[in-house]
Amino acid sequence: MDNVDADLLAAIYNPRHPQFINAYIRGKKHQDLRFFVRARVGALPQLDSPEEVGLINYDPEGMEDGVWYLSHLQYEFQHHLASSQEERRLFATHGYKIETIISKNQHLFSTATVTVQALIPGERVMKFGLLPNLRVSRVIDREGQDLYYVQESRKEDGSFYVVLPVAAEIGKEYSITIQYSGDKVLEQAGEGSFYVRARSSWYPNLNGFGERTLYDLTYKVPRRYKVISVGRLQGESVEQDFAVSHWVTPTPVAVAGFNYGDYKRLELPDTVTGYKMSGYYLSELPDRFRNSEILRTLAPGSMTKYALEQTRAQLQLCNYFFGKTPYDEIFITEQPDFNFGQSWPNLVYLPLSAYTDSTQRWMLFGGINSRFTGFVQEVTPHEVAHQWWGHSVGWASYHDQWLSEGFAEFSAGLFLQQAVGPDWRKDYIEFWERLRKRILEKNNFGIAPNDAGALWMGLRLMSPHSENAYQNVTYPKGAYVLQMLRSMMYSGEDQDKAFIAMMHDFVASHSDKPASTESFKAIAEKHITRDMDLQRNGKLDWFFNEWVYGTQIPRYKFDYQLQTEAGKIKLHMTLTQSEVDEHFAMLVPVFADFGKGMVPIGHFPIVGNSTHTVEVVLPVQPKKVALNAYKEILER
Ligand SMILES: [Zn+2]
Repeated sequence: MDNVDADLLAAIYNPRHPQFINAYIRGKKHQDLRFFVRARVGALPQLDSPEEVGLINYDPEGMEDGVWYLSHLQYEFQHHLASSQEERRLFATHGYKIETIISKNQHLFSTATVTVQALIPGERVMKFGLLPNLRVSRVIDREGQDLYYVQESRKEDGSFYVVLPVAAEIGKEYSITIQYSGDKVLEQAGEGSFYVRARSSWYPNLNGFGERTLYDLTYKVPRRYKVISVGRLQGESVEQDFAVSHWVTPTPVAVAGFNYGDYKRLELPDTVTGYKMSGYYLSELPDRFRNSEILRTLAPGSMTKYALEQTRAQLQLCNYFFGKTPYDEIFITEQPDFNFGQSWPNLVYLPLSAYTDSTQRWMLFGGINSRFTGFVQEVTPHEVAHQWWGHSVGWASYHDQWLSEGFAEFSAGLFLQQAVGPDWRKDYIEFWERLRKRILEKNNFGIAPNDAGALWMGLRLMSPHSENAYQNVTYPKGAYVLQMLRSMMYSGEDQDKAFIAMMHDFVASHSDKPASTESFKAIAEKHITRDMDLQRNGKLDWFFNEWVYGTQIPRYKFDYQLQTEAGKIKLHMTLTQSEVDEHFAMLVPVFADFGKGMVPIGHFPIVGNSTHTVEVVLPVQPKKVALNAYKEILER
């Protein structure tokens, strides 16, 4: 929650502070409506909203809780200035230098020096993201002079602000050193294992994911434990009962994080990508799994080798399809959590479940088709792919997070198609079927995630009536959108060549700025193929309007006959598209099996609710012909 007084203080201190309105409205029906017009920082900084005007109904228990309205200013629409990439920072961060001591009872004692530069004139108040449990004890400037700061009770406005003695001059570099300590960053999970609870607020974070900067990180921890951090290891030493390690990021990154525990290490080189891979695993099971007969048979050492082999395959695959990342090292670390993974720049947290083998999985989750088995199968390639999606290419706003999560999910599918050997088909089809179900399955209110709104709405898809809509649209539908582009760009002659060129261009052109839906669309249009240019204007408006900004999903019916006439094999196909509006266009892939499994033979263009027939001549008699054979096109 914002500290309203501190925000107001910031405005009062700066006579040139951009105009804003904060209105807190108590009505009969709605007790806590909040209306914001904030031209400079955006209406909802918590959401990194590029929009300036917002109306929120704050009612966590109620069914109408949430963002009711969020929009750019009228002026911006009139002058074509509305954009997800508007500058929201008041200060730019040039670097963090953080020294952290972790005590035996997981208490943190830290000193962080943040170097900044003011982006607008007159600003005196800096707002940081910092876990309210971490209490600030002192703030000083470069000269050692104490600075005022605001940090109220952790139960109220726990957010943290620093007040500069005079307004920061534009262009001048300032550094501020903050001392803080507290708990709740780490929680013991068992003998030698810990949950890292505060993921991005364990240090005073000025601009969140919206900015990349350099980090210099030193950790001092009880000697028996290891820290595996973002960055490159510069040195290790032992001081009395403490192990000290020093890490520096060679390139600017959006966030710093670390993993911590009693880890053993395994290494695997990769001569293809040049990546250096290290796997870290825990020697003991976390307490809550100690009684599990099945998990006690876990062999983390050999499963780490397996995870590293998967990592290597995925790094090679992503390198080939998307181009290089700025990193040359990757640390794959086990975490005691069971059902989620997370990716940092050159550091990955894998859940314990990723270290189970197929027999253990089968015994733990029953049928091999369960959604959880799917999760375990996808988690390593998904998290590794985040080195590209999220870390090499960031996202500009909540509208654009599908470019990270959806693309990482797509990459997990790519892994199942390309990296698992000749029996890939079944798992690959199941992967897309699982994603399709996530998008279309109705909840108790009769609402499917897809009904909650367009992919582009991101986190705003979540509402009391559609709690899982963000998860079940951003990830799977985002993956479908990229796969559908790939499918349309595929040609029998050049295969994925056009798609690969597009993806390389996308990564290369976003090395120093986050991607937005619009900037991705521009790259896709740059690489548009003749077949997918349905409007014959070089634009992909039709595709993005349908799949990214819209919610329609077509239903297909497909029939075919094969005839041999004068030695020629004629394929006669009929396709019906329904449950869409009259403008809904699509290019649906057709496949044929000539004895070695289904291969793409072309695309079937179709518009509106209609039936079309097409006749083609085939060189060889196919065993079978099918539409969308691998389920990579989203259909009802
Ligand atoms: Zn992800």
